[in-house]
Amino acid sequence: MTSRREQFEALFPHEPAFRWKQIEQGLFSSAESWSEVTSLSKIMREGLTQIPWMSVVPQTVQTSKNGDTHKALLNVEGGKQIETVLMKNNRDAWTICVSSQVGCAMRCGFCATGKMGLTRSLLADEIIDQYRFWQQYLQHNPTLGSRISNIVFMGMGEPLANYEEVKKTLNTILTYTDIGRTRITVSTVGVLPRLEQILTDKEWPHVRLAVSLHSAIAETRKKIVPTSYDEFLPKLEVWAKNYLSVFGNRRHHLTFEYVMLKGVNDTPEHAKALATFVRRIGRIRINLIPYNLTGMEFECSTPSAIEYFMSILHSSGCIVTTRRTMGDDIAAACGQLIVLTNKDQVA
Ligand code: SAH
Repeated sequence: MTSRREQFEALFPHEPAFRWKQIEQGLFSSAESWSEVTSLSKIMREGLTQIPWMSVVPQTVQTSKNGDTHKALLNVEGGKQIETVLMKNNRDAWTICVSSQVGCAMRCGFCATGKMGLTRSLLADEIIDQYRFWQQYLQHNPTLGSRISNIVFMGMGEPLANYEEVKKTLNTILTYTDIGRTRITVSTVGVLPRLEQILTDKEWPHVRLAVSLHSAIAETRKKIVPTSYDEFLPKLEVWAKNYLSVFGNRRHHLTFEYVMLKGVNDTPEHAKALATFVRRIGRIRINLIPYNLTGMEFECSTPSAIEYFMSILHSSGCIVTTRRTMGDDIAAACGQLIVLTNKDQVA
């Protein structure tokens, strides 16, 4: 698999460096094919037709009944498919949720994508083109409005298991769109070596990070997030303190995501453990996610259990929000993204 840039350099080995910038500007413009990028010479535009304008090919788009969520199934090279989601946000604009891998190797017990296993990581072009796909979709559907204001890396895959391509994606998006660092969130199961790398990597842009904690009690976390290991929680605590001492400020906090699973991680004991863990660290925002059905053995906590859980956190001084469920009628909500081939069966 070769990136667009490598293909370009093979086709035009003697171009000055700024040419690639012009090409990327064209990719992020309202043009819909190479022939419309009139800032490039005719010869160049003709040559570029050998490189696909889009590395993702839309198959279907589903829209939720209330129209606030759209989910696209996209083909990528190698006969594989991914999903990406467009969601209305409360800024009167759209948030897109992108996939970073085809499938996922993490196998979290409550997540449908985990059932697929990992097929491959996506190239930066393929992640970037999920944004470009939605940009074009909005261009074709003007009644929806045109502004994509936020991006979340919460689709299929574990973004930090595809670190270099995700980093390239972030830097490209920050260069060619008006989306700023605080409007982008990378969600991770907590790949500690990569989280450590972020602390010193000068090329990693400081977008928001969300860590899928799901339990502050080691045995419970291990049960639902099988990639956890014994020392995960104390190591995460040390890392989070370091992270906040380097990057924390009023606008830059760290989020812990917490899926609410009935009888599994939603008891008062779990709330207290979470509050203690978070208070030891500092500026953490806790985001409770009501469990979305995925055909697994879990159930979502009851509204009153969620409320009680929140009240314990609040009374310990924690900052807590609850994620609004969107697109569950088209299986576009958190953890519901899955692409099945004929051979696959979800148990
Ligand atoms: N691999 C990344 C992105 C996952 S999707 C990560 O682990 O963070 C974003 C969030 O949705 C994660 O916190 C994930 O654990 C959560 N999630 C997965 N399945 C879910 C489900 N069925 N219901 C609610 N949230 C779910």
